[in-house]
Amino acid sequence: MQLKSIEIIGFKSFADKTLIKFPGGMTGIVGPNGSGKSNIAESIRWVMGEQSAKNLRGSRMPDVIFSGSADRRSLGMASVTLTLDNSDHFIKTPFDELKLSRKLFRNGDSSYYLNEKQCRLKDITDLFMDTGIGQGSLSIISQGNVEQIFNSKPEERRSIIENVAGVYKYKQHKSTAQKEIDETTDNLNRVEDIISELQ
Ligand code: ATP
Repeated sequence: MQLKSIEIIGFKSFADKTLIKFPGGMTGIVGPNGSGKSNIAESIRWVMGEQSAKNLRGSRMPDVIFSGSADRRSLGMASVTLTLDNSDHFIKTPFDELKLSRKLFRNGDSSYYLNEKQCRLKDITDLFMDTGIGQGSLSIISQGNVEQIFNSKPEERRSIIENVAGVYKYKQHKSTAQKEIDETTDNLNRVEDIISELQ
């Protein structure tokens, strides 16, 4: 699996449509302070489903939409598309190439697409779960993250290790199953109450 390119339109400082290609090997992005290097890393995190505006250095999600500059009006929509080469099927899907897109409008309307077909955020999170590249993964370490990991509590560090080791997915499934069991038990108790009231 390899990141092939990112197309950014209207996301943070990228007002114009910008295509960044990753031809293989190691790619370095260099530029003066404030030129948008971190915004590129954040665009990757965003398209993979980041839900916290704070993690993207904003206070509300629409803050990621280009807000205008001295010579340009603000835009009404941000869109990011990530293209991944999946010919080794590292991500468990039959597709050899994956195109992942996210769009957000100023009124808050937002949508996700997988190979140009609209999908749910859950489809994307499930696809990347335990691959080490999904939402909240450690494949993108932003400024300040390293210090945060060093200063984190042992339980928080444990969850990092569980994520890397692939245990996290099973914990999520267990907690969903437990929730369903609890709901079913509540329903059964209710039915028993009704039966005893009727007897
Ligand atoms: P450094 O090297 O200092 O870390 P950088 O190259 O990583 O800088 P970024 O932090 O990615 O730069 O970009 C910061 C720039 O992005 C700032 O000029 C900021 O005004 C601009 N910016 C952030 N959000 C928006 C937005 N919604 N609309 C327009 N510009 C934005």
